[in-house]
Amino acid sequence: MTTSENERDSNPPLPPAEIPAPGATNFIHEIIEADLRAGKNGGRVHTRFPPEPNGYLHIGHAKSICLNYGIAKKYNGKFNLRFDDTNPTKEDQEYIDSIIEDVRWLGADWEDRLFYASDYFEQLYEFAIKLIKKGKAYVDHLSAEEIREYRGTLTEPGRESPYRNRSVEENLALFEQMRRGDFPDGTCVLRAKIDMASPNLNMRDPVLYRILHAEHHRTGNTWCIYPMYDFAHGQSDSIEGITHSICTLEFEDHRPLYDWFLDELEIYHPQQIEFARLNLTNTVLSKRKLLRLVRDGHVRGWDDPRMPTISGLRRRGYTPEAIRDFCERIGVSKSNSIVDIALLEHCLRQDLNLRVPRVMAVLRPLRVVIENYPEGQVEYMEAVNNPEDPAMGTRQVPFSRVLYIEQDDFMEDPPAKFYRLAPGREVRLRYAYFIKCVDVVKDARGQVVELRCTYDPATRGGDAPDGRKVKATLHWVSAAHALQAEARLYDHLFLKANPDDVEEGQDFTANLNPNSLEIVPNCWVEPSVAGAAPGTRYQFERIAYFCVDPDSTPEKLVFNRTVSLRDKWAKIAAKGE
Ligand code: ATP
Ligand code: MG
Repeated sequence: MTTSENERDSNPPLPPAEIPAPGATNFIHEIIEADLRAGKNGGRVHTRFPPEPNGYLHIGHAKSICLNYGIAKKYNGKFNLRFDDTNPTKEDQEYIDSIIEDVRWLGADWEDRLFYASDYFEQLYEFAIKLIKKGKAYVDHLSAEEIREYRGTLTEPGRESPYRNRSVEENLALFEQMRRGDFPDGTCVLRAKIDMASPNLNMRDPVLYRILHAEHHRTGNTWCIYPMYDFAHGQSDSIEGITHSICTLEFEDHRPLYDWFLDELEIYHPQQIEFARLNLTNTVLSKRKLLRLVRDGHVRGWDDPRMPTISGLRRRGYTPEAIRDFCERIGVSKSNSIVDIALLEHCLRQDLNLRVPRVMAVLRPLRVVIENYPEGQVEYMEAVNNPEDPAMGTRQVPFSRVLYIEQDDFMEDPPAKFYRLAPGREVRLRYAYFIKCVDVVKDARGQVVELRCTYDPATRGGDAPDGRKVKATLHWVSAAHALQAEARLYDHLFLKANPDDVEEGQDFTANLNPNSLEIVPNCWVEPSVAGAAPGTRYQFERIAYFCVDPDSTPEKLVFNRTVSLRDKWAKIAAKGE
């Protein structure tokens, strides 16, 4: 059985996560510190991140990477990146490349320790031979279906295979033939000989090797038998001298099996420690489900900015710092829970707020003509790049007679609490002047298409010398100078906090949010962003954080909305206090 078959599809709803204080230590740190005090492993600490290259990494993997790499750093230890590449039919070089890029981007450093379980195939084969020689493994000719049938259930013991008591010699010969390629796929398997009556199903003679005449992305056609994940994983950790094999809770039941292998093989014994996997509201974190979204075209690819993949988050505008901060804050525990995605967004805002320059952009333009501003005149207004950080300096923003403002910053017939622009009303244009709306131009259908305004030259810079006040400050761009852009506005991919909460006969795709992507095709951005490279981040003042998408062309910039300015987490946290 591969781990992807272990997926828990019909989860009961999870309780919301308790978020520990940032910087808090966790129960794994405590175990390691106790081991260090006891002099275990000669004071060595060695962790690893062991992905299967059968999909792209997601934010849950980031939790594991931060945990494992963080431990190596904290205890002056080592961290390996190892691909558990034992299933050639589901694995691909594309996944390997993306995983390497993502782990590096997150800031984890494996130095020269990039390994592959496939590098250990010969050694794992020798391990299997050793088990056979000890009478602890046998070649079984039952079909996959029969093996399942013989396995029994949680309440019923399994039955022994009729092939279970073959002689060591016969098993050695058959296993050799399996390796040589004498048998087609599915003819037989190598199984451990443990206990068909064990209350732990994993101990009921698990399969160690199956025949797969499939080309492996690294070993080519050298092998036509491949070790099962369960047989490869623990032994690979042992070969690498991993001291603490940290994995998610669903492997708790596999620990007795991993221990059995290490004991029977009499090899170095890493300590397995399980922790709760990350679950996020409105998000699926299962490679199989993410693959479905990609294959069925629900998203534009693994790096679609709506995806919880590392590459999707990166394209969306997430920083590695924000993701690491999030992983730190959610902590590590032994009980499954669900973290509000608002916390992830909060961590991102905290980071962007301090570092990202602010610019003015208009997503849905309304033309404004300043009637008393001279035709052809251009003034350059000094604008602050980030009020949180004076060192980020200022820039010059062109102002002219024809501007764009946001359509929803104007109302012809404003209700009581609307303080922005309206007929006869005066507002401030940020970094520029007070303007007053003197007339409204409509098209044949009665839609407002242009505002005629006047400006007060005495208010340059944003204040009136006579002390008169306005109640709103609007952002704007100069029509003649602004750059045209497309904005892609994202919302959660799933409507429900738990996407697996579906009616009978439906699956998680029934909860897809049909409005998770809104394309705003005709935006205008101030000229200072000209030539910005993909990945460059901005705060569009009063709107949201955005970053430049790789789909941008010299003619048209494309921006992804990274995250809104409104912090839902701050509200949730305040309520909890
Ligand atoms: P899936 O179950 O979606 O197929 P996986 O867990 O099998 O994913 P792996 O490539 O085996 O994916 O994962 C590599 C490591 O990342 C494992 O040690 C696993 O425990 C850890 N991991 C995977 N998902 C999460 C998660 N949601 N939270 C924390 N750690 C995770
Ligand atoms: Mg796995």
